[in-house]
Amino acid sequence: MTDYSDNRYFELFNKQKAHQFTLGNTNYKERIRKLKALKRAIEKTYRQDLRDAMFKDFKKPQTEVDLTEIYLVIKEIKYACSNLKSWLKKQRVDTPLTLLGTSSYITYEPKGVCLIISPWNYPVTLTFGPLVSAIAAGNTVILKPSEMTPNTSAVMREIVESIFWESEVALIEGEVDVAQDLLKLPFNHIFFTGSPAVGKIVMSAASKHLSSVTLELGGKSPTIIHESTNINAAIKNIVWGKFLNNGQTCIAPDYVMVHESIKDEFINAFKAKALAYYSENPKSSESFSRIVNKKHFDRLVASIENAKSFNATIELGGDYDENTNYIAPTLVSNVDEGAQLLQDEIFGPVLPIKTYKSTEEVINYINSKEKPLALYIYAKNRKFINTIIKNTRAGSTCVNSNALQYSNHYLPFGGSNNSGIGKAHGFFGFQEFSNARSVLKRHTAGPLYLLFPPYNTLKEKIANLAVKWF
Ligand code: NAD
Repeated sequence: MTDYSDNRYFELFNKQKAHQFTLGNTNYKERIRKLKALKRAIEKTYRQDLRDAMFKDFKKPQTEVDLTEIYLVIKEIKYACSNLKSWLKKQRVDTPLTLLGTSSYITYEPKGVCLIISPWNYPVTLTFGPLVSAIAAGNTVILKPSEMTPNTSAVMREIVESIFWESEVALIEGEVDVAQDLLKLPFNHIFFTGSPAVGKIVMSAASKHLSSVTLELGGKSPTIIHESTNINAAIKNIVWGKFLNNGQTCIAPDYVMVHESIKDEFINAFKAKALAYYSENPKSSESFSRIVNKKHFDRLVASIENAKSFNATIELGGDYDENTNYIAPTLVSNVDEGAQLLQDEIFGPVLPIKTYKSTEEVINYINSKEKPLALYIYAKNRKFINTIIKNTRAGSTCVNSNALQYSNHYLPFGGSNNSGIGKAHGFFGFQEFSNARSVLKRHTAGPLYLLFPPYNTLKEKIANLAVKWF
């Protein structure tokens, strides 16, 4: 057995390990009580603190905090509270004829001690969202939020400490080294949200203990605009989905593929809508947040300059201010395939557009890249929509809208391979933090006894019949 006693989180981990069965044996009412306490804290007691913290961290507008952080977590809590009783019930299953005399059921048991590592871009949603599923499933949890939004992390720690014993849920603030040390411990489940590069580090650490993982990752999410699209309706969504949170959204449209016949119409409508949403001077707009830090600001500016060096056309924006980590809403066309904008996930307010001529071209281009977290299709033509869905792969798809798939808790949320492993939200999140344990009970003798040793010709015949008929 590996000795972890020199790990700085060993004591905390052990406390949670020792407490896991007590917590795991709580009923739905006790878990709902905890979830409701979390809801009260987010919705009432700490709501303004969270808004202020996110404003300090990256000037996130209050309305966006309410809609994309507070609301989403509260909705997740409400949904879990309404359904937990039935999720925790034994799920009876059928019995095959050969197992006559038995009955079987599935029971969702907690995985045990869980680690949740979250990113900075939706700091509350992506920390407390999975926490809701983990609590619903009856786990103990250690949370490690991002070091890049320290004000928000501090408020979240206060919230956690005001509701939970550290043997149930604990939040540890700190840099990457905190995550690295936590990852050395033998957690039963690790739920990570962040970049594919760090996702690989997490999975490799998890493999040492065969900890199960959920990896909610990122990548380049394409947005396809067919010539049948109602451009004005599409643009309303695309400009919002792209510049929400200043483009720092895992499922933001990362690049647009527009049919060449409507390229100019698309560009003109896009410019007009960006102007309507963020004014002629987006820098002074109250609706436009900032890049989270200098490192990401420099990365984004470098990618704009890199595109220019390939003679790309800046259709909109392109200006920035390093004193405030401001980058204007930016639309870029004629982007060379080798430019960074078409290679790496953008994660900022810059949108490159490509044109296409044929459906095959779109499909081949998308399939030549890693599977995206989200793929968006704008079209009226049903055949086109179905052809794209059937011939590409993606974690999720919105047709004639974007980003909204995240907020429907009846849908599983997650990627596929490079964009993620496992699913979150609603019942899918509960399942992710649970082990579906199968239980079979024998009540009376059954036909199987006829086949127990010693074997003979008759038993061989019965076995043959079973293979053929049952
Ligand atoms: P990141 O991967 O850099 O960091 C995420 C977390 O991992 C942070 O808490 C950080 O402290 C920790 N971390 C960083 N380096 C580490 C290392 N070497 N070892 C262990 N832990 C480490 O991601 P980010 O910059 O915070 O977020 C942006 C990325 O997250 C983008 O790729 C985006 O697409 C993705 N994302 C995905 C989703 C989703 O739901 N699929 C949601 C939001 C963001």
